Amino acid sequence: MNGQAASVTPMMAQYLEIKEAHPGALLFYRMGDFYEMFFEDAVAAAEALDIALTKRGKHLGEDIPMCGVPVHSAEGYLLTLIRKGFRVAVCEQLEDPAEAKKRGSKAVVKRDVVRLVTPGTLTEDSLLEARRHNFLAAFAEVRGAAALAWVDISTGAFRVIECPPVRLGPELARLAPREVLLSEATEAGWAGTVTESGAALTPLSRGSFDSTSAEKRLAGLFGVDTLDGFGSFGRAELSAMGAIVDYLEITQKGKLPLLRPPVREATGGSVQIDAATRRNLELTAALSGGRDGSLLAAIDRTVTAPGARLLERRISSPSRDLATIHGRLEAVRALVDDSRLCDTLREELRKCPDMDRALSRLALDRGGPRDLAAIRNGLAQAGAVAERFSGDHPKLLAEARQALVGHHALCGLLDAALVAEPPLLARDGGFIAPGHDADLDEARKLRDEGRGVIAAMQAEFVKLTGIGSLKVKHNNVLGYFIEVTATHADKMLSPPLSERFIHRQTTANAVRFTTVELSELETRILNAGNRALEIEKRLYDSLKGAVLDQAGPVGQAAAALAEIDLTAALADLARGEDWCEPKVDDSRAFSIVGGRHPVVERALRRQGGAPFIANDCDLSEGEDGASIWLLTGPNMAGKSTFLRQNALIALLAQAGSFVPARRAHIGLVSQLFSRVGASDDLARGRSTFMVEMVETAAILNQADDRALVILDEIGRGTATYDGLSIAWATLEHLHDVNRCRALFATHYHELTALAHKLAGVENATVAVKEWEGDVIFLHEVRKGAADRSYGVQVARLAGLPDAVVERARVVLEALEQGEREGGRPQKTLIDDLPLFSAAQSLVPKPAEKGPSPIEEKLAGIHPDELTPKQALELVYALKALT
Ligand code: ADP
Repeated sequence: MNGQAASVTPMMAQYLEIKEAHPGALLFYRMGDFYEMFFEDAVAAAEALDIALTKRGKHLGEDIPMCGVPVHSAEGYLLTLIRKGFRVAVCEQLEDPAEAKKRGSKAVVKRDVVRLVTPGTLTEDSLLEARRHNFLAAFAEVRGAAALAWVDISTGAFRVIECPPVRLGPELARLAPREVLLSEATEAGWAGTVTESGAALTPLSRGSFDSTSAEKRLAGLFGVDTLDGFGSFGRAELSAMGAIVDYLEITQKGKLPLLRPPVREATGGSVQIDAATRRNLELTAALSGGRDGSLLAAIDRTVTAPGARLLERRISSPSRDLATIHGRLEAVRALVDDSRLCDTLREELRKCPDMDRALSRLALDRGGPRDLAAIRNGLAQAGAVAERFSGDHPKLLAEARQALVGHHALCGLLDAALVAEPPLLARDGGFIAPGHDADLDEARKLRDEGRGVIAAMQAEFVKLTGIGSLKVKHNNVLGYFIEVTATHADKMLSPPLSERFIHRQTTANAVRFTTVELSELETRILNAGNRALEIEKRLYDSLKGAVLDQAGPVGQAAAALAEIDLTAALADLARGEDWCEPKVDDSRAFSIVGGRHPVVERALRRQGGAPFIANDCDLSEGEDGASIWLLTGPNMAGKSTFLRQNALIALLAQAGSFVPARRAHIGLVSQLFSRVGASDDLARGRSTFMVEMVETAAILNQADDRALVILDEIGRGTATYDGLSIAWATLEHLHDVNRCRALFATHYHELTALAHKLAGVENATVAVKEWEGDVIFLHEVRKGAADRSYGVQVARLAGLPDAVVERARVVLEALEQGEREGGRPQKTLIDDLPLFSAAQSLVPKPAEKGPSPIEEKLAGIHPDELTPKQALELVYALKALT
């Protein structure tokens, strides 16, 4: 040991050793009632948490920076740190400090990390969003095959899917995991995709992803010889699942959560929806980022957190399986028809706690008496819900009902054992109901009676000594003692009293004694209290064991409650909002009568203004397969709304929900694509036009003949003729090659000519009325092409100065006239324009001269090809020319 190391205190040496074993995590080092952080951890945490940074002792001659958070409020701080992207290693004291002292005055309390807290491995209610899943995912590639596995450790759901690399982005968009594990070997290739999805990236060693040890790890975890019983998994799937289990072992320090056996999701099982489409349709989050304004927020009427999580899953992965869709719709229909039943079920469901999460905390030994109570209340409610619907019901409901019953034994046990509202922590005791355990009752009685016995003893001592001011008191150092004032010292210290009262301590004003009976009683009280706690702890463990023995059926009951909650919520929505049951089949129909946009309609209703205008849409199979509506109409007429509402109706139908329409017939949709022209994505360093083209390319390359494609103003991001040509060619490709159902909104009126050329293309327009030079939006979609774009009128509505609007009108007229007269060259046309704009008349005509250096430079620039960085450099270059 060198001189410097020798100067390290034993505690600091322990700290440094533990810290070294957990690189990349902040170390919460338990010291009494605080978690302390030192060195760089302290500096980083103090800043992130906005708490005071102090110092504690010296290390290698330098002050040690330190900060700390109280244990009782640590969860709030943990949450902040996790949200800010930290991971935290929680290091606890593993023995009573008194034990350590026995080993010598310098001995350090044993400590070790009991858990690594990371975004994907949270279980505490205070750290989780109740109505959202918290997925941890792992992506693995093994010899050309790739797979994505994910788990919600707060509920135990464990899934895996084959995932070719091109699907990684879309799958991450669908699942929105909080944390993604990648092997160090493949990290470089996929790190970008992972961080773009918003998840935290955690690289793991190659060993964690090894598929052979993964197989063993998984078989061991589920206590089976072979995984074949769960399905046949490929190497990549095993590798991804194994990495998850390995990571859980690392972070949970060997205590594995209650994972359900892995379920393999069929790749073709759900409608394929990529990240851009999800964003654009605002499925689970609005474009502004929050849940408000999203489809999910508009339609969520579930009354339990597990129900809400199920709804999010359904909306994120609508089904492609007709039987599944029909089963769900049939169940919703039953509850729409029986509104009394629907309402009573919802009343009962409201009282259901989140059993999934309670169960998982119990399995991880992170639970407490409240989690036991959640299971008790949940099972009792499950019984109550089941009682509400006896009789004949659609299969889905009947099966769910089946899972709700038969829990009497466990429920009865918990009910008899627990008090009505137990405390959060087992260690404080007080959660076992009186009368459940005779030993416990006895111990508690002794403990509680102790005080009464002490009072009686004090009276007896007063009588015996004749000292009226004698008191029996308690402190932490002496325990119980008898105290008299100093004036009575002599009397107490001489016989006969001194034979009975044993001197303990003399202070300035008082003298303290004990007696044999008093110390015996004290020991009994203490013992009784400890014994009561011990018995409660033992009972807690056995109740926990009883719950975990039934984890399977309890989990099924929880899943059934979520299913019923979701069904009833969708029925309530359908009735409240006047939605209809869609007809879904394997035809190629797409016929919506009186369709509405659920989010826009709700927003309009809230504003209390004009009602939402329902519109029809018919994309049913054309003669040669494709069926495309080309939608023209001025800005603000409602084109985007119409496009999106039809996509949402298809999605809702396949999620098993009724739909906002009077009638809907939908032939199964396999893929849903939605793109909007030129949305800004500067953060990714691509020009807006580039993004638009990349996204359009993705559709043209992927869409099959069952896809539903929504294109809104494609080509808008570039010069008119470029844009028009691209839109034109895109439409032709969709029609001739993809042969899918599509809605195509454009402001290029020239495209309407295509309807005559391509059999599957039809023109539609959103009607407006012109009145005294203003445009009035009717929001009505009709067959036919828009006569004009009304851009000038819309600009006026937007508040463009009158002079500019007037000038624009004149320019437009001239341009239109030019076109009518056989397309005069634009140059002559513009030269001919009368110059009477208000602004023009004020500006002196510039003297004739050649182009300035700035103009020359500008002439050579193609904005669409510039990256944001180049654009900025250009601004500097231009500035330099002034
Ligand atoms: P566009 O895409 O044609 O520019 P939007 O679809 O964005 O127009 O619609 C503009 C606004 O018009 C919406 O925000 C909404 O308030 C209103 N709107 C759209 N469709 C309807 C409708 N069917 N009924 C009533 N109002 C509508």
